[in-house]
Amino acid sequence: MLEINNLHVKLEEEDKVILRGVDLKIKAGEVHAIMGPNGSGKSTLSYVLSGRDGYEVTDGSATLDGEELLEMEPEERAAAGLFLAFQYPVEIPGVGNMTFLRTAVNAQRKARGEEELSAGDFLKVVREKAKTLKIDAEMLKRPVNVGFSGGEKKRNEILQMAMLEPKMCVLDETDSGLDVDAMKLVAEGVNALRDAGRSFLVITHYQRLLDHIKPDVVHIMSAGRIIKTGGPELALEVENNGYADILAEVK
Ligand code: ADP
Ligand code: MG
Ligand code: MG
Repeated sequence: MLEINNLHVKLEEEDKVILRGVDLKIKAGEVHAIMGPNGSGKSTLSYVLSGRDGYEVTDGSATLDGEELLEMEPEERAAAGLFLAFQYPVEIPGVGNMTFLRTAVNAQRKARGEEELSAGDFLKVVREKAKTLKIDAEMLKRPVNVGFSGGEKKRNEILQMAMLEPKMCVLDETDSGLDVDAMKLVAEGVNALRDAGRSFLVITHYQRLLDHIKPDVVHIMSAGRIIKTGGPELALEVENNGYADILAEVK
């Protein structure tokens, strides 16, 4: 599914190196978590995978089902099946949420050689998926994320993910700023999408999301590298002892 080899990334505008040789292999159907202190490069990794401007890849590769992602435009990466749920979802004034979703879904279908959904079929699917995420019809009519609470924005990210049916889902701190109930809704939304053909990379600063989205593999990132990999017990170790012990052990 996703294979990252020796990925080195610096900022385009400055001589600041952020990723220093990231290796990561996620098989179909697996859920991996990346934890790590603030500033370790977790968000940068997700941005670079999705093709955000401002970063320069100086070495390494990232392939999705054998196709090099780093050479694709962001929309080609999405068409290939990659989805990124942002740590800070953006507001898009003037673009209705429903219009946004329908445009994205139909662009995705077109890229896959499938027919567009009719207005009626689209409405049926979006309403059904919105309901399970407790997103009400009124929120679907409003401009994308404008005036949404933190929890509503994150749930809206999961709705986008559910509508696009990606094969590789990257969630960057989808739990940050959420109360327990909102986090559970997000986790349920993610769990409902777990499937043998779909993989997840869940980036989180805290362990609590991983009580609800059970990962197969947990990685610890520090200073632009994955410094330790283990099972779910690694997340509990971080919860109990912080990162200091692991950092010291690795040094
Ligand atoms: P994390 O998500 O693990 O908290 P980030 O990927 O956001 O880490 O950031 C990694 C490091 O790179 C931090 O030191 C951050 O300040 C820096 N960084 C990332 N993007 C930029 C940018 N566009 N401009 C300046 N510094 C950046
Ligand atoms: Mg951060
Ligand atoms: Mg981050």
